[in-house]
Amino acid sequence: MNVYDSDRMTDLLAPLCYAITDTADGADMVILNTCHIREKAAEKVFSELGRLRPLKDSKAAKGEAMILAVAGCVAQAAGEEIIARAPYVDMVFGPQTYHRLPEMVAQATRKVGSVLDTDFPTESKFDYLPKTARVENNAAFLTVQEGCDKFCTFCVVPYTRGSEFSRPVDEILVEARRMAENGAREITLLGQNVNAYHGEATGPKEWGLGRLIREIAEIDGLSRIRYSTSYPAEVDDELIAAHRDVEQLMPFLHLPIQSGSDRVLSAMNRRHNASQYRDLVERLRAVRPDIGLSSDFIVGFPGESEEDFEQTMALIREIGFIQAFSFKYSPRPGTPAAMMQPQVDEDIKTRRLAELKTLLDDQQTAFNLDCVGKTMPVLLEKMGRHEGQLVGRSPYMQLVHVEAPHDLMGTVAMLKIDSSHSNSLAATLVLDDPLIRTA
Ligand code: SAH
Repeated sequence: MNVYDSDRMTDLLAPLCYAITDTADGADMVILNTCHIREKAAEKVFSELGRLRPLKDSKAAKGEAMILAVAGCVAQAAGEEIIARAPYVDMVFGPQTYHRLPEMVAQATRKVGSVLDTDFPTESKFDYLPKTARVENNAAFLTVQEGCDKFCTFCVVPYTRGSEFSRPVDEILVEARRMAENGAREITLLGQNVNAYHGEATGPKEWGLGRLIREIAEIDGLSRIRYSTSYPAEVDDELIAAHRDVEQLMPFLHLPIQSGSDRVLSAMNRRHNASQYRDLVERLRAVRPDIGLSSDFIVGFPGESEEDFEQTMALIREIGFIQAFSFKYSPRPGTPAAMMQPQVDEDIKTRRLAELKTLLDDQQTAFNLDCVGKTMPVLLEKMGRHEGQLVGRSPYMQLVHVEAPHDLMGTVAMLKIDSSHSNSLAATLVLDDPLIRTA
């Protein structure tokens, strides 16, 4: 979502004659768009600011200005602290107010001191954003939902992104069509709880995510639809049916479970237990047997015992994930779990994370090896490092390298997977396959 937000900031700043540059050195403005989900992310902001300060100073020495800004959820949660610790920062603004950027830039260039805007405004930023201009790599992100009302005890999102909000259907369709016209072949629908989507539509009823996906699938030129991130307890029949019926909906789902222990899930306030998650996976596999699952795991949540951890390992072995993210529990100020006792020792967290990662890596490697010899559609998104090489994504988000003519860029091509490497697959073009689509 930060990528989407950064793109919108770029759109907003274009009329003020700002354009993207590759390096901060010499830039007229640097915006750090931040994440607050784990502690490390917040600390990184301060070290980045320290690194940027001399660049700002050397511009100032030449009589030029560099506007330095911190955006995103660290700004939302720690705005005052940023200004106190790094008073040379010009603008600090949260994820809900970046539509006011032009106004903030005007203020920052005129007034002394920093501009701070961490409101949760009553107006929606989406009503003020210019038309989407940027589409990267033929695969675009589109925010359809924001915020979270679930209040998992470990999570800071409800406090930084605010409560759940769904954009109206029409607005999303206009943006999706424009993305397709601008060259997007794939759209990933985004939300902190994307499947809690319930957008206003014409007619008496709100639409859920499944209905929205069906409509987006009608857009000319779009070959692929994905969505992220889903909350297990919000997966409904309509969404499962979309996985059955919508050809463009990729057979890949990121569905965070966090833990395999019911005791821990309950302490996390997750609203689903392990067996409900298993049932959900079964229902998804029943309609889409080829679906690949990915998940998030937290180890060392307060009170997590060896047995709780073993239940997580058992669940992973049983379900089988083709990819996953795993984290050590990181106490976030102001969240209930930060105060829970006992907190788990760092060395225990480290060991559990290593064990968990080994198991998840083994499953991912096995899945990748299993792909060797198979033919699959790959969206060719960018140039590879070698001459004549293109890089794309499989339906399962695997990176795929292939020798292919440049004019296949931006198309979905049928590729035969030849080998599996640590972070990617290598493939060859199935030249005589009629399924090569130049959509
Ligand atoms: N909406 C999704 C979560 C997305 S947040 C859901 O409800 O499942 C991304 C991931 O960051 C979470 O799934 C979780 O695994 C991790 N995370 C969030 N807060 C954390 C914390 N305090 N410590 C460690 N990991 C955390």
